[in-house]
Amino acid sequence: MPVPTPSSDDAFAEVKAKVDLIKVVQEHVRLTKRNKDFWGLCPFHQEDSPSFKVNPQMQSWYCFGCERSGDVFTFVELIEKTDKRGALQLLAERAGVELKKLSPEQKERSDSRRRLLAMLKLAAQFYEYVLWSSPAGEKGRRLLEARMVSEETARRFQLGYAPAGRGFAEYLRAKKKSLQDAHDAGLMRSDGTDFFAERLVIPIRDERGQPLAFTARTVRPDEQRKYINSRETAAYIKGRVIFGLDLARDEITKRGHAVLMEGQFDVITAHHHGVTNAVASSGTALTDDQVRLLKRFTDELLLVFDAGLNPGNPNQLELAASRAREVLEKIPDAAVRDTYRERAAGWIGVQPHLLTAQASPSPTKRERFGERGGTESNGKGGLAPRLGGKKLTVGRYLLQLLAVRPIAFDRVRTMLTPDELDEGDRGIYVRMLETYERGGVSGLESELAGYPPEEQDLIRRAWAAPPPSVDDEVAVGLAERIRLGHMRARHSGIIRELSEAERGKDSELVARLEAQAAELARAINEIERRN
Ligand SMILES: [Zn+2]
Repeated sequence: MPVPTPSSDDAFAEVKAKVDLIKVVQEHVRLTKRNKDFWGLCPFHQEDSPSFKVNPQMQSWYCFGCERSGDVFTFVELIEKTDKRGALQLLAERAGVELKKLSPEQKERSDSRRRLLAMLKLAAQFYEYVLWSSPAGEKGRRLLEARMVSEETARRFQLGYAPAGRGFAEYLRAKKKSLQDAHDAGLMRSDGTDFFAERLVIPIRDERGQPLAFTARTVRPDEQRKYINSRETAAYIKGRVIFGLDLARDEITKRGHAVLMEGQFDVITAHHHGVTNAVASSGTALTDDQVRLLKRFTDELLLVFDAGLNPGNPNQLELAASRAREVLEKIPDAAVRDTYRERAAGWIGVQPHLLTAQASPSPTKRERFGERGGTESNGKGGLAPRLGGKKLTVGRYLLQLLAVRPIAFDRVRTMLTPDELDEGDRGIYVRMLETYERGGVSGLESELAGYPPEEQDLIRRAWAAPPPSVDDEVAVGLAERIRLGHMRARHSGIIRELSEAERGKDSELVARLEAQAAELARAINEIERRN
């Protein structure tokens, strides 16, 4: 986030002259005119009768209840929980005032972020237009019908449809807009095809309604990846956005709590059914940044889990409990955390102490979940198999394939370095590779006895029940996916470091990280294009 330099009283004066305090306040407070002043309920303290007064002539405000007062900058500072410069930045953007005295690099960054945001806004409009007003949008409309989402709700969330092919690129060309910006925003592959092609597109917007990224659900039944997401960019850091907050913020303030759901579609459905204070953290546990953001509107969070999650099934019970633990851990206040632990435990049907952080990975604890779920009584249940084997990840799939078809190492070893694999897969991968290099395709059989027991177990299982397809092309595809995953994770890491470095004003580090991020993004694009 570029910060305006010690700027000049004239910047404040110019911005102040261009924005109307009444309009700014009205976005947060319902105001009623009485004589020459406007009155409303103070947004900074709890009250039932209005003691918050705004004077349009003086462009000032005062609360008789909490005795806070100020001008448009102090109002924005308090309501957006930012500082004076942050308030200046927000209001300057709104008023279209260019903040001067930025260093050339700051200006470049601020410009490129602004271009990115404009491009994302345009894309959202384009997709929305295609969804409702073009024949190509038919598949998207049918998906919404199947999900029972009305047009009104869909429009509130600005849902859209990305057509097959190069529709967006052609649109940009016709409008004489930069394709490069669309690339940078992660909207397009380098061959110009739409990144989200043939998907229902859901804009992820910030708390002011500006689209920052997209998540997109396929309409094709044969597509393996149901959802794909924008990668992180200078405009989008996943852990800082709360999905639905722009639409839910007023209702959250009014009802005094937010309903936190798992996924974006859950939120859309919830709003459709009148739960208009529902938001989502985008499928991850709440980050500290997200908690801070929500705290601007409420201290109360209500946690809701997937309706597909059935606590009667021990596997799902375990999943529900681990999700609850993840969310509970992020609540900073111990007393509040305990209250929610009790409630969550009630919903899930377990003892509250099983939702403490320490209660997670030990098998005995998991078995106790099983008991609570009532499976011990019928003697079977899905818990035991999960305790034995790990979930089949791309890395595991590749290891199984290599166990069955070691010759695939010839291709895989040239594409993948061990550090690109998950830590848990690395040791066995290296051991198998060394075995192959020493003993060729029959090496594994003769050396297997020297492997650690759980690695032997994985290999024997693969021999007994080989993975679905075993050939070199599949191996290459898996290796590529692993590389891509590793590169995306590194890219996210760099983007996070970058925003830290920007905050610390370390311009040398910023430049270096920007170069690294750009190079990595190019390489990621390249691989995505090939696929
Ligand atoms: Zn007040």
